[in-house]
Amino acid sequence: MATTADIVIIGGGVMGCSILYNLAAMGAKNLVLLERDTLGSGSTGKSQAICRMHYSNPVTTLMAWESMKIYRSFPEVVGAEAGYVTTGYLVVVGPQDREAIEQNVAMQQELGIDTRLVTAGDVAEIAPMLSVQDAGGMAYEPQSGYADPHSVTSGYAAMARELGAKVILSSPVRSIETSGDRVTAVVSDQERIETDTVVVAAGPWARSLVSPLGIELPLDTVRHQLLIMRRPAGRIPQHPGVGDIAQEFSFRPDSTHLTLVGGREDPADPDTYNQGVDLDMVEEYTTKLVHRMPAMSEGGFQDGWSGLFTITPDWHPILDRVNGVSGLYCAVGFSGHGFKLAAMIGISMAELVLEGKAKAVDIRPLRFSRFEEADLMRSRYRYNVLA
Ligand SMILES: Cc1cc2nc3c(=O)[nH]c(=O)nc-3n(C[C@H](O)[C@H](O)[C@H](O)COP(=O)(O)OP(=O)(O)OC[C@H]3O[C@@H](n4cnc5c(N)ncnc54)[C@H](O)[C@@H]3O)c2cc1C
Repeated sequence: MATTADIVIIGGGVMGCSILYNLAAMGAKNLVLLERDTLGSGSTGKSQAICRMHYSNPVTTLMAWESMKIYRSFPEVVGAEAGYVTTGYLVVVGPQDREAIEQNVAMQQELGIDTRLVTAGDVAEIAPMLSVQDAGGMAYEPQSGYADPHSVTSGYAAMARELGAKVILSSPVRSIETSGDRVTAVVSDQERIETDTVVVAAGPWARSLVSPLGIELPLDTVRHQLLIMRRPAGRIPQHPGVGDIAQEFSFRPDSTHLTLVGGREDPADPDTYNQGVDLDMVEEYTTKLVHRMPAMSEGGFQDGWSGLFTITPDWHPILDRVNGVSGLYCAVGFSGHGFKLAAMIGISMAELVLEGKAKAVDIRPLRFSRFEEADLMRSRYRYNVLA
């Protein structure tokens, strides 16, 4: 007997699992998620998982804000733990970006986001361990923080299973079959599942899954390095997350004595990239960190890892149905800022698939056709990952 599903989701990262859960929560039945390895084994499990709202455009600002609210109340809303830790988040820009940060904060405040411009005097009270003399402008978000990507991903999957969805691991999808212009089946190493609806949330590997159907997703992959730094005992018990646009990096606390530092991006092959960190990166980013948090001169490098950003030409995702292949949807291209959006991406994609249109947030700015229409998402800064 042929296996059938109403909807098949390909990829068990935070996006696939959030989409699966939200489809199930909205009443969809006969759902299957296929993951080639384990849940969170792609970019999700390597994420710095910072949740903040500072962006240059309303769609991502709103998604981050609504997602953060869900992460903060994950046990009540979803029924699982998210490990959300409130740290506050400070955005620091150089003098050339003063106007940009003012415009961003004004836009965010209009949307109801809890953020404000702050001065060096404010920062001396909020975060006295930071040195901000060179800042041209700063904004502070008191509710921002970070969550645990493994808990969120496995939490969504577990709750989707409780609602009847199937999550199948170690099950690489080899092809998506079509007849005419319609999706008809998904073929994995284990089985062929007949379905008329497929959501591709396969990170960097999405491109090769859909290209046999004549669809070229404009996706590329870069390697992003993260350093684990030890803070000097007792000197910096805590600190906020920091988006240091002036120096083009970010950092956040992890536990009582560690700080995670996000560094630069280099082109990478998703199947063979170096998952460790480079020594010159350790030197360069330690210097940046000490500049912003001087007591770190007494701290030290402990370890690090690298993960993948799946990038589009504007470093923003594609959330859309795929024109020309009826029943095919994609949620891909989250670069280095997808985790904080994932709760709302799950809701928006579920609405798109079930109701024909995302309602909670207008996701049309993230449509696939924006690239050929030259209507790309723009940052007010030069560094798209940070805002
Ligand atoms: C080092 C690093 C730091 C980051 N920091 C932050 C941050 O601070 N804040 C933030 O918001 N975001 C951050 N991000 C980005 C965020 O983690 C990603 O945007 C997000 O995890 C992407 O999730 P995903 O589900 O799309 O992709 P993935 O987690 O990569 O999931 C895709 C899944 O698809 C599976 N798959 C692929 N091909 C197939 C196939 N053929 N069949 C079945 N399964 C398949 C893979 O095994 C994988 O599990 C960071 C990312 C990295 C790497």
